[in-house]
Amino acid sequence: MASKIESSDTEKNKFNFPYFSLLGVLLVVILFTVLWHPLNLDRTVYVPLTPQVETTVTDNINSPVVVGDGRIEVVGGKSKTDQITESSDVPEDEIVKDELDDIIEDKGNTVQYTVARGDTLHDILLRYNVNRRDVYQLTTNFKQLANLRIGQQISWTTDDSRNLQSFSWIISSNNIRIYEKSGNKFIESSETIEVVPKNVVIKGDIKTSFIADARKSGLTSSEIGIITRALQWRLDFRRLKVGDKFSVILSREVHGKRLANSQLIGVRIKNGSKDYYAILADDGKFYDINGGSLSQSFFRYPLAKQARVSSGFNPRRLNPVTGIVTPHNGVDFAVSRGTPVLSVGNGEVVIAKYSGSAGNYIAIRHGRQYMTTYMHLDKILVKPGQQVKQGDKIGLSGNTGRSTGPHLHFELHINNKPVNPLTASLPISEGLTGKSKKAFLSKVKNIRSQLNF
Ligand SMILES: [Zn+2]
Repeated sequence: MASKIESSDTEKNKFNFPYFSLLGVLLVVILFTVLWHPLNLDRTVYVPLTPQVETTVTDNINSPVVVGDGRIEVVGGKSKTDQITESSDVPEDEIVKDELDDIIEDKGNTVQYTVARGDTLHDILLRYNVNRRDVYQLTTNFKQLANLRIGQQISWTTDDSRNLQSFSWIISSNNIRIYEKSGNKFIESSETIEVVPKNVVIKGDIKTSFIADARKSGLTSSEIGIITRALQWRLDFRRLKVGDKFSVILSREVHGKRLANSQLIGVRIKNGSKDYYAILADDGKFYDINGGSLSQSFFRYPLAKQARVSSGFNPRRLNPVTGIVTPHNGVDFAVSRGTPVLSVGNGEVVIAKYSGSAGNYIAIRHGRQYMTTYMHLDKILVKPGQQVKQGDKIGLSGNTGRSTGPHLHFELHINNKPVNPLTASLPISEGLTGKSKKAFLSKVKNIRSQLNF
C-alpha cells in the first residue's frame, strides 16, 4: 500500500542542510512506524498488517468494511485477517430477561407474521431462526411462495429444534395454502373453506401487569407480542400501572375451534393521562393516529467517522490460537484509544461497568427488541438507567478487558440474539405521506371510535 508522502521537498532540503537530512530520516522513521502500526490508525485507508501470530484463519476472509455514508463493502483475501484478538467477548453477567422478552421473542412454536414491504419468505424465516435446510427446501420446491404480497398473513410452526413442521399462507380469506412436513418433504394442500374474519374488540384494565391482564381479557401470547412490538418505541410496558387501560381491535379467523389467524387492527393504551395508539395501515405496518412512524431509526455503526473493520461478525469464527470455534458476536472497528463512541439509537443504558473479558462496556436497550453493546472502552460516560439519544457520546474507545489492541467491539442483538450489525435489517422511521396517509387517516377515524373505554 503506497503512502502518499511527497518526498521532493524533503529531498531538496536534505542536500542543503545536514540538519534537515537528519529530520528527514526521522520523519521517514516516524511515518513508517505509524503506518506499520495499524492499531493507531483511525481511517479507512487499508494498511497491510504486520503478521503477528498466525494468519491462517480461513473463516474470516470476508470482513465487511464500512465505507462512506454507511455503505458496506466486503473485502476478501486472507491477508486482511487482523491481529486484534479477543479471547472472549462475553461479559460475565447477563441482562436479566423478563416475561415480556419471552413474549416478544415469540418463544411459542407458532409464529404469525404479516408480510411487509421488502420481505421475502426466505429472509423472514431465517430471521426467526427457522432451520436453514427447511427454509431452502420450502422456498425452492414451491416457487409460488415467491408471490407473497404485502399485508398477507403467514404463520408457521417449528419444533423445539427450530425445524419447520408446517407453514400456512393465507392468500385470501377462502384460499389458504398449507405446507406440512411429511418425512423429509413438504406437502402442499389448500383449504378453501369460507372463513369469515370477524372483528373482535377486547378491552381491559391493568390490575397486575399488562401481560397478565391482557391474557385474562382473552388476548393470545402472539397477539400480546404484536402489540408490545408495535408500541415498543413509544411505551415501556413495565411502566403501566394499576388503573391504566387498554383497548384492542383484532380481525380473527377461526377454523373449527382453532384460532387460525389473527390480525391486529388497532390498539390504544392509556398510561396515566397519555394515550398511545398503533393502527394498522395498508402497507402492513403500524403507525400512530397521525400516520407518524412508530419505529426508531438506527445508525449503522457507533462512530462519527468511518473506520476500518478489523474483524467482522462471524458466528463460526475459528480461534487462530486454540483452533476452537468461538463465535465473534460483533464487529471490531480499528479505532485509536479515546475515539468517541456514540449510541446508535435512542434507548436506556442497562449496563455500564467493567468486566474481565469485555473491559469497560456498555449495553443499551432500544425499545424491546433491540440491544447494542460497546466493549473494551477506555472510559464510560453514562450510567445504568440513563436515557440516551441517538448520537450521544457514551464512552471513549480503548483497549480494556481481554483485548490485544485498541479497538471497539460493537454488537447488535435482535430479540436477544446477536446479528451482524453491518447487514441486519434495521427499522426505519418513515411516516405515511400523500395518498396513503389520506387513506390511513380516514381509516383511523373509524377505528378510533371503537377504541373507547
Ligand atoms: Zn470483537
